[in-house]
Amino acid sequence: MSDKKESLNFIEQIIAEDIENGKHSGRVHTRFPPEPNGYLHIGHAKSICLNFGVAEDFNGLTNLRFDDTNPVTESTEYVDSIKEDVKWLGFDWGDREYYSSDYFDKFYEYAIKLIKDGLAYVDDSTSEEIASMKGTPTKPGADSPYRNRSVEENLSLFEGMKAGQYEEGSKVLRAKIDMSSPNMLMRDPVIYRIKFAHHHRTGDKWCIYPMYDFAHGQSDSIEEITHSLCTLEFENHRPLYNWFIEKLEIFPSRQIEFARLNLSYTIVSKRKLLQLVNEGIVSGWDDPRMPTIRGMRRRGYTPKSIRNFAERVGIAKRDNIIDVGLLEFMVREDLNKVTNRMMAVLDPIKVVITNYDKGEEFMESVNNPEDESAGVRQIPFSGELYIDSDDFMEEPPKKYFRLKPGGMVRLKNAYIIQCEDVIKDSEGKVTQLNCVYFPDSKSGEDTSGLKVKGTIHWVSANHAKEAEARIYDRLFMDESPDTHKEKSFLDFVNPNSLQIINKIFVEPALYNYSVGDSVQFLRKGYFCVDKDSTKDKMVFNQTVGLRDSWAKMNKN
Ligand code: ATP
Ligand code: MG
Repeated sequence: MSDKKESLNFIEQIIAEDIENGKHSGRVHTRFPPEPNGYLHIGHAKSICLNFGVAEDFNGLTNLRFDDTNPVTESTEYVDSIKEDVKWLGFDWGDREYYSSDYFDKFYEYAIKLIKDGLAYVDDSTSEEIASMKGTPTKPGADSPYRNRSVEENLSLFEGMKAGQYEEGSKVLRAKIDMSSPNMLMRDPVIYRIKFAHHHRTGDKWCIYPMYDFAHGQSDSIEEITHSLCTLEFENHRPLYNWFIEKLEIFPSRQIEFARLNLSYTIVSKRKLLQLVNEGIVSGWDDPRMPTIRGMRRRGYTPKSIRNFAERVGIAKRDNIIDVGLLEFMVREDLNKVTNRMMAVLDPIKVVITNYDKGEEFMESVNNPEDESAGVRQIPFSGELYIDSDDFMEEPPKKYFRLKPGGMVRLKNAYIIQCEDVIKDSEGKVTQLNCVYFPDSKSGEDTSGLKVKGTIHWVSANHAKEAEARIYDRLFMDESPDTHKEKSFLDFVNPNSLQIINKIFVEPALYNYSVGDSVQFLRKGYFCVDKDSTKDKMVFNQTVGLRDSWAKMNKN
């Protein structure tokens, strides 16, 4: 790796150096540590790709560790969904599935060691008293009156806490560090609290639970994680992380911070996403507008496009906002390679071909011009078709190359037609176009000599199937909906983020597609089959449009 050093990001550089220096005998071991209190989102995807990615690059391993030390908000529903999502993204933790709660006995021993070494004490102060004695960043805190309890007294009180002899909130265990440290987190942090709560794995065994800072780093050490990658908000926890390693004399994992992923027009906070679900603003965690892995999956985003996105965004040391258009670009780029091109008419008008007397025939069509192995298919054609209403204009501007009265257009993979009659209803709305076709203009064997500039998509009215389309827009109308002081992110919800078109017409072959399959509707965008589909009525989610504003913008 050393010859590529220039192109390595700062985390890879640290790891490459550690390997060169023979640290941990050159071993690399990372972990992805979700708290099972919600579904994973695009920010977690970034962290997953980073942790599994660097381990893969340096022949290392990655653990999946559930950071489940808060019994109140966690559940096995979330554990299961997280496992499924990590797998779907394409990563494998082998048999290394761990739970912080499995280490509760070990954490307890660590706490006893600190007490015995005079480095932890039981404090009877209320949480308000503790807070008021904490001081401020510029003013030192004050020692608790319980700070100098004897080792024996602390041991017996802590055992009593574990045995359930005291009420919630009446006592905590604190590390004895330094009440005047410039780092507030070093001012005798609470490491254990009493909580009579049922835990999804340990049941009612415990009524004391360790705080995050006394669980996360210790879990890293127990698993001998070499590089513990976390987001920037933990930077000032690092001195405490290292203090515990030093005082407990445990494996020296190294914490390295990187910037969280923030995406424009998107919320990446489990708590706020839960709010969207609970308030019924979206239909659930897997609503296709949600930036959750399930939401993106249902929307039709591919694992590869998300991995490519994470790679492209890279790793930063400072917080920034990534344009959500980049993610959409990556999705489009991947789908372009792998989807078949099919035809669907979203807003139909009928075309009757008055001189067509063959009944029906089948038009050969290439499935995917980007992938020859996708083969060809036969599309039914007949004298009654649907085209999209915006492919016809009665009074078109100059240079309008689609259908107009008297004008000609090519039907994709089929014939050239000419519009002879426009039929309207009593309100003047166009309901039918009567056209003629040119029998010698068939695609691939055109001898007509006719020159037309426009090509439009169509479906045969007698063969097409009805379906539903769901068209999505951004869920938020503001670039950074959760950064406004006076307003809640809920004030920026886009009321038009979902448009349902309940009667579109699609090629019959689409009825062989299964839930999750993706397709490009020619000229309309990428769609995928939604789980709400039935055998009588399929439902297609628009994954992303065809227009590539991000790429264009960045070329200029
Ligand atoms: P949230 O703020 O959504 O609740 P969290 O950080 O509390 O997220 P965890 O389950 O603790 O959620 O996160 C698991 C891992 O994913 C952590 O290592 C965390 O740093 C990382 N992570 C979470 N959000 C992001 C993000 N936006 N960008 C990068 N990594 C993230
Ligand atoms: Mg967290």
